[in-house]
Amino acid sequence: MSEDFLPFVRPAIGEDTIAGVADVLRSGWITTGPQVAGFEAELAAYVGGGRAALGYCHATGALEQCLRALDIGPGDEVIVPDMTFAATMNVVFQIGATPVLVDVDFATRNLDAARVEAVLSPRTRAIMPVHYAGLAVDMDPINALARKHGLRIVEDAAHAIGTRDKGRLIGSFGDIVCFSFHANKNLTTIEGGAVVTTDAKVLERLRVLRFHGQVKLPDGSYDIIEPSNKYNLSDVSARIGRDQLATLDARNAKRRALAMHYFDALTGIEHIALPARGDGGHAWHMFAVCIDHEALHTDRKSLRDALQAHGIGTGVHYPALHQLSVCKRLGARAEDFPNADRIGKQTLTLPLFPEMTESDVDRVAHALRTVLHG
Ligand SMILES: *Cc1c(COP(=O)(O)O)cnc(C)c1O
Repeated sequence: MSEDFLPFVRPAIGEDTIAGVADVLRSGWITTGPQVAGFEAELAAYVGGGRAALGYCHATGALEQCLRALDIGPGDEVIVPDMTFAATMNVVFQIGATPVLVDVDFATRNLDAARVEAVLSPRTRAIMPVHYAGLAVDMDPINALARKHGLRIVEDAAHAIGTRDKGRLIGSFGDIVCFSFHANKNLTTIEGGAVVTTDAKVLERLRVLRFHGQVKLPDGSYDIIEPSNKYNLSDVSARIGRDQLATLDARNAKRRALAMHYFDALTGIEHIALPARGDGGHAWHMFAVCIDHEALHTDRKSLRDALQAHGIGTGVHYPALHQLSVCKRLGARAEDFPNADRIGKQTLTLPLFPEMTESDVDRVAHALRTVLHG
């Protein structure tokens, strides 16, 4: 795809998946049914650790209902990294609890146990680590901290299907883990998500919450045991997910190889901070650099426009949460989040998706060099 426009992301859907979806569409059963059951079983087997998986129509709904299944609500605090997509924070507001933001490490963009410990209060109920861009949060110290203080952990693993922390797949250990299968993510079902956990009580509650609070009765009718919402996954989506899962490791390996090529191609460009490489466990959902626009006497909008003119799409992931109006209204101050503040202002997501080639990476690097330094 040499001189065509290079978007920053593009889903990889094969012709066999399209044919598989057509079969589901013709089958007479298109919403939650056998494809979802199959996808859930295959996902549970993929992450391992004896976990069960529950499909959701998006990770946002999954995250929200996990907090609700833990009976977190008004008066409770949930710790959220300042550098994440707004969904991580929004779900805390949705259940009436208070998100407590923590700064992240500049190199990894992830929270850590020391920063979490510094904001614990008697009201803290849960921690929501985000494996930013597919780089695992160092989970052992966070899990130990949670055990020590009786807290729950709901991992936002939206970027992290296939990510490993010290060799262990995210989802195979820990408390409760949510994946996203949005179109831009490493595994897509168009829109979709999943929860994996070994907590049987949480799982049972989620099964009810996921579909209106409904339980089936022996007489063939049903009862509603608590008011809830509707977040079930469709069979059409699950059919896509099954193919995507079967080829996930190959796509993630391709992402990794392209990311390594970025490190080579971007060496020696001044005023660009490259992301942490991690070890082999990084799933490379995104390749996001930080650019010191001030030192370059430019701004992100001009840079993005110039790259666009070179046929290269970019993204901004993300503005720091404290920079958003909802948090400013609650009194969030930039000086409490120096790293996330800088990332939010400087971050630029470069194109990275499995169907790209190394020469696409070279093209991005060349355009960046030209635009930044002439
Ligand atoms: C995409 C994303 C979500 C939300 O996922 P949906 O499936 O779109 O609801 C949550 N958190 C992070 C970090 C994400 O990137």
